[in-house]
Amino acid sequence: MPTYRFQEVPLYANKTVPCAGGCGKKLRRQRKFAQTLNPFNKDAEGRPKTSQQIQAELSQQAKEWKSAPETCDACFVA
Ligand SMILES: [Zn+2]
Repeated sequence: MPTYRFQEVPLYANKTVPCAGGCGKKLRRQRKFAQTLNPFNKDAEGRPKTSQQIQAELSQQAKEWKSAPETCDACFVA
């Protein structure tokens, strides 16, 4: 069975936010968002997504992630 390799469209995001636990620590987070360009990755109309569509979706996801609060390990267990 052949292996198909699809082109990945990645987006790397990082943020620095104050800990939501209230300890005053600044938390740095990094995250990668990615989708692959492939015939099965379709948009709402059933057409394969273009890299532009994927990038727009990834930047929307990154934007939501960036506005989400983070809690440091110490505050999380407390
Ligand atoms: Zn904390």
